Amino acid sequence: MRFDETNLNAPILRAVAEMGFEEMTPIQAAAIPVVLEGKDMIGQAQTGTGKTAAFGIPLLQRVDSKDRSLQALVLCPTRELAIQVAEEIRKLAKFMHGVKVLPIYGGQDMNKQIRSLKGGVQVIIGTPGRVMDHMRRHTLKMGTVRMITLDEADEMLNMGFREDIETILKELPEERQTLLFSATMPQPILDLAETYQKDAEIVRVVKKELTVPKIEQYYYEVRQKNKPEVLARLLDMYDPKRALVFCNTKRMVDELVADLQLRGYFADGLHGDLKQQQRDRVMEAFRSGKIDLLVATDVAARGIDVDDVEAVFNYDVPQDDEYYVHRIGRTGRAGRVGTSHTLVVGREIYKLKDIMRYCKTKIHLRPVPSVNDINEIRAEKLMNRVDELIAGGELHSMTELIEKHIDETDCTSLEMAAALLKLSMGEFATDTAIDEGLDMSEGEGRSARARLFVNVGKRDKIRPGDIVGAIAGESGMPGQLVGSIQMYDNYTFVEVPGEYAEEVLQAMHNVKIRGRSVLVERANGGGKTEGKSIGKRSGHDKSKSGEKRSVQHKRSGGKKGKTSE
Ligand code: ADP
Ligand code: MG
Repeated sequence: MRFDETNLNAPILRAVAEMGFEEMTPIQAAAIPVVLEGKDMIGQAQTGTGKTAAFGIPLLQRVDSKDRSLQALVLCPTRELAIQVAEEIRKLAKFMHGVKVLPIYGGQDMNKQIRSLKGGVQVIIGTPGRVMDHMRRHTLKMGTVRMITLDEADEMLNMGFREDIETILKELPEERQTLLFSATMPQPILDLAETYQKDAEIVRVVKKELTVPKIEQYYYEVRQKNKPEVLARLLDMYDPKRALVFCNTKRMVDELVADLQLRGYFADGLHGDLKQQQRDRVMEAFRSGKIDLLVATDVAARGIDVDDVEAVFNYDVPQDDEYYVHRIGRTGRAGRVGTSHTLVVGREIYKLKDIMRYCKTKIHLRPVPSVNDINEIRAEKLMNRVDELIAGGELHSMTELIEKHIDETDCTSLEMAAALLKLSMGEFATDTAIDEGLDMSEGEGRSARARLFVNVGKRDKIRPGDIVGAIAGESGMPGQLVGSIQMYDNYTFVEVPGEYAEEVLQAMHNVKIRGRSVLVERANGGGKTEGKSIGKRSGHDKSKSGEKRSVQHKRSGGKKGKTSE
């Protein structure tokens, strides 16, 4: 079901289009109508299938923007997830005037939160611990809530939030809509549903038996910002005559096509916004070999019928097992050999594991090719052509020139051959700078990186450079080791190498950035500690960081041994 064929509100449709969504994912198509009807629901679908929008879209459609009171509450297991969900819902609400969406979670200044709440917020996304905290202080008035969503319900129960959740549910008005979203549906979830929902409809995205084509399938663990570079390397390495590259959104298709063209590839894109005439033109160019790379969304690719595709690249991990099978089914047809390559960022690995499990297929982890790997392959290809030329004879005039040069200078023929090889390999032969840019020192994606949470963001007039500067200045860790920085209005996530994390955390204690005192903490797991330790927080935290420190100690000892491996 395409979004533009539904009768969702115009502002929502506009936001969805801007986010680049084309078609609803299966869980969205199944869940959105049920939620819009006002029914209680249990929604089950694997990770990465778009559950946030499955409840976020109907939630927004049902919010009354003229009413400033709290209307919808979403509970998430961790601070990080609360922030992610809030960002997604904010994007969906971008064109809805007067709708305020606020994440609340532990670690954030309570007074600041209370001030934001006073401004009138209709949608809150929070961790159970912090929501309870506000409930007790009466800074959150639950009496007007009409809809509650438990996101990642299974995860929340696993983390021991059951009691907190029940306390919150009991505080809500009887007349309300209760939604439960989860990747799995164990008995405790069904028990919760039984007690707190009314005639809940169960919406499950069931999986068909899928037959996966027998081709070699690989995946690569990468960081989001390195995806274009990694794809370029894979393209150089495999040098496929004709390849399909899949993205999850129209916007990503456009961005990637522009990037690939800048890098000098013959690429073009296909997605649902193109007119039939444009589609025909792109397809014709792909068939005739005018372009080697076709970048497409799943929807747009449905009509493609080209037989000799050598490789499929999943630039984004597909959102559904079925999409995966359709995508890779484009290669290896008619008995030809094909390969598929999937780029995986962070948590997406769980989605890929799901795909492997349900499709009963093996996708092998491969390291991202280094510049050296690419050089080797390019050299090999050049050597093959050299062999062909030698076999073909007729090199007399060349050998004469070489003899003359060797006579005049003092070089050997081996040296000359090497220099000529370097020349013919062009920029690639010496370009190790790219590797540094990729930060491949410990193997892309496999180096343990720690994600840190910093409680200041864009609104505090702080730029990423300030944060890098403060970390480097205070901890002595070189600034270029700082990984990705995601800056939001009120907070920032920063990645640092795992072995530096504790040092950075200690160094950043009581530090000011641009005159503001900042709090730096590990990003994950925050929600849980917060939920379980209300009132006795500091003691709990101390013993925890003590633990971490000793672990860290062992780790740095172990690392020395590793470098000699
Ligand atoms: P889940 O909660 O099921 O694990 P998310 O809601 O986090 O999955 O969605 C995963 C990703 O898919 C997000 O980046 C989201 O923006 C994107 N997404 C959601 N719905 C669609 C859609 N209909 N088309 C394309 N991308 C989508
Ligand atoms: Mg989710």
